[in-house]
Amino acid sequence: MADRSDVVIIGGGQSGLATAHAARTMGLDAVVLEAAGTPAGSWPHYYDSLTLFSPARRSALPGRPFPGDPDGYPVRDEVVAYLAGYAAALDADIRTGHRVDRVTVTGSGEYEIGTAGGAALRAPMVVAATGAFSSPHRPGLPGLESFTGTVLHSADYRRPGPLAGRRVVIVGGGNSAVQIAIELAAAGSRVTLATRRPLRFLPQRVLGRDTHIWLQRTGLDTAPWARPLLAGGKGTPVMDTGAYRATIATGNPDRRPMFTRLDGDQVEWADGTRERVEVLLLATGYRPGVDYLAGLDGALDTGGRPRHRGGVSPACPGLGFAGLEWQRSFASATLRGVGADARHVLDRLRKGPGPVRAAERARR
Ligand code: FAD
Repeated sequence: MADRSDVVIIGGGQSGLATAHAARTMGLDAVVLEAAGTPAGSWPHYYDSLTLFSPARRSALPGRPFPGDPDGYPVRDEVVAYLAGYAAALDADIRTGHRVDRVTVTGSGEYEIGTAGGAALRAPMVVAATGAFSSPHRPGLPGLESFTGTVLHSADYRRPGPLAGRRVVIVGGGNSAVQIAIELAAAGSRVTLATRRPLRFLPQRVLGRDTHIWLQRTGLDTAPWARPLLAGGKGTPVMDTGAYRATIATGNPDRRPMFTRLDGDQVEWADGTRERVEVLLLATGYRPGVDYLAGLDGALDTGGRPRHRGGVSPACPGLGFAGLEWQRSFASATLRGVGADARHVLDRLRKGPGPVRAAERARR
């Protein structure tokens, strides 16, 4: 007989831990299944120099402040340590080394959550909180199959060392693209950011205070209606103190309109000129890694992405998500934003029909 709980949370990164915290405050019995050996999410795999774009006071999960200077910007390893401490203090049932490979609905109408190791759990509610880092987006680029240089995704990038001094083209204009470009240029690489649209920047500080403080105070951070204002279909802007723009103005890295094709060891630019490039780095983002939901009718769209309203599945009663980009707001996929979303989702799930009651209704 499979283990049973009120809710199974898949993924033990910040989103899964915030959901476990919400479950505890609601008196729900939760089990967290985490594939890795420690519950720190994907943070240990991000690049070495990563510094948070939000200050410590705006980078905490519910119930535990981020330690250190509240106005300082924590580095990657401080986030790893914070999450490990958060998980320990939660005193929740977190089972590491458990990779979920399928979720199905049983004959009695509950969810059964199966792991690669053969374990199975049952619950009326499931929250998928597995992030996106396991699923890097690699767009089809004309001539990519013929390109003889090195092709990397930003998910593979840790430090400039192996790429120092080489000719690098980075595809993408988001925070990671710009930060990696500047780091590589400082290490002696010649770097170009190839983007479809001009780069967009958001000032890191306004009137002497971090922008995240203003975003939170004005409500823009958590307002679903703020999406057109903050993204406007033009992608997430790059947070910048002014230093990034100043470095780009020096010409290395530079920004050019997206190339038209790759050919052998060459890139052909929009103006028809060609150039030898050694490394193509795709900073083209990620897609939610939720393949294990493929067996649930209506959980995913035809592209394999979660179908949801504010993180709640309209097709599968009792199924929710945490940590999706723009799940409910600008802050959804961030440390400071995921807690409120996790609470919202669990609250909706426990008040909703749930798979058991849905199955009962269907039988009547
Ligand atoms: P993840 O951290 O990816 O955690 C998902 C967890 O699920 C992992 O532990 C994984 O092992 C586990 N898992 C995956 N599949 C399975 C499975 N099938 N079964 C069981 N477990 C599974 N946010 C900020 O707030 N501030 C920042 O400055 C910031 N900078 C960022 C910089 C980069 C380069 C990136 C990529 C993101 C950044 N983010 C930042 C965004 C966001 O906070 C992070 O991506 C964060 O790691 C997302 O947390 P998560 O828990 O949703 O996903």
